[in-house]
Amino acid sequence: MSFASLGLIDPLVRTLDALGYQAPTPVQAQAIPAVLAGRDVMAAAQTGTGKTAGFALPILQQLTMAGQVAPNSVRALILVPTRELAEQVHQSFLAYGAGLPLRTHVAYGGVSINPQMMKLRKGLDLLVATPGRLLDLYSQNAVKFDQLQTLVLDEADRMLDLGFSRELNAVFAALPARRQTLLFSATFSDQIRALAATLLNDPLSIEVSPRNTTVKAIAQWIVPVDKKRKPELFMHLLKQRRWGQVLVFVKTRKGVDALVDTLEAHGISADAIHGDKPQPARLRALERFKAGHAKILVATDVAARGLDIDDLPLVVNFDLPIVAEDYIHRTGRTGRAGASGEAVSLVCADEVVQLAAIEVLTGQMLERIDQPGFEPDHRVPLTNTRGEQVRKPKKPKKPKGDAAVSSIDVRFRPR
Ligand code: AMP
Repeated sequence: MSFASLGLIDPLVRTLDALGYQAPTPVQAQAIPAVLAGRDVMAAAQTGTGKTAGFALPILQQLTMAGQVAPNSVRALILVPTRELAEQVHQSFLAYGAGLPLRTHVAYGGVSINPQMMKLRKGLDLLVATPGRLLDLYSQNAVKFDQLQTLVLDEADRMLDLGFSRELNAVFAALPARRQTLLFSATFSDQIRALAATLLNDPLSIEVSPRNTTVKAIAQWIVPVDKKRKPELFMHLLKQRRWGQVLVFVKTRKGVDALVDTLEAHGISADAIHGDKPQPARLRALERFKAGHAKILVATDVAARGLDIDDLPLVVNFDLPIVAEDYIHRTGRTGRAGASGEAVSLVCADEVVQLAAIEVLTGQMLERIDQPGFEPDHRVPLTNTRGEQVRKPKKPKKPKGDAAVSSIDVRFRPR
């Protein structure tokens, strides 16, 4: 199947050719004709499936066919959860729309609102925005929606997880009822389904990978370890396994900074991305990592979604995520566009409930591989994909000669 056969115009087909895209991915093959035909779409597709081009290409084509845009108006609005994703999605529109006479911009918080207001003055064909900043712009009359034709909710589940539902409802209330709406989400909770039911009109449902599963090509395993030994274990694995570039997820901002300090104390170049960092610093860190100048990028879940880093071979969960769905998003940073990848989690006894939730959600057991010398004193209890048999961690026994050796074999081999 070719891009031209999906109904895309020549300039877009030529750009895709120049980008080296040979054929549409499954989500593109389904979404592009439907969006061109004006249908609403609800797609279960995670990052790495080519979903961005799935909505960007037909929207660019529709915008090219449309007439003049009025001052402060926008024709297509793409809502995304994070600043990083906003930049990335906008960059995709710029790349796919190269040579098309369209005015586009991106708006998110944490940076001055004035340049965004200036850009909006003449009107925009397309605006990529985070919900909070969009509402700020709207409340200051910097943006109008009377000409809005298309709304995209990208990573809708993440927007709800991040607590944007109030902002989203305020935005929806301001939009014209007659419009095309496309909803993309990696996972479909009841809340997302309810949102889809109110927003979408007879949508085409697209599901490109089984719901709530991680990408199959990713080799996933965990190392049981005591909490306090995680930094040491990470350094050990880094050396022993000769890890190249690694994206590491840590639960808290403080934890991120502590790990970066440890790495730098060992002479390893590392950068951090978390919510306390100003936006320019976050973008710089991402660029340094993408360019290969920093070997390690340590991040909180802010960075988990949407980051498109080519050929990232490895994601490490230094801490397991609190929300099981985030495991899927984190591991989605590797094994993209069909490449194989690896996701390693350092798991301590306190995290057994999160581990069980991940295994239930993905329907897949994570292989436990002990690291000699790092076997935990506080054992990680056994789990299964039905969420049963999760036993509370045993209190460590006081050492009493040979009796200190536990008689329970907690090593686990997957199916
Ligand atoms: P996405 O899922 O939208 O984040 O895209 C994942 C990656 O796949 C991006 O780096 C895209 O540039 C790339 N990509 C998207 N569509 C195609 C395609 N049809 N052929 C090759 N690469 C693609």
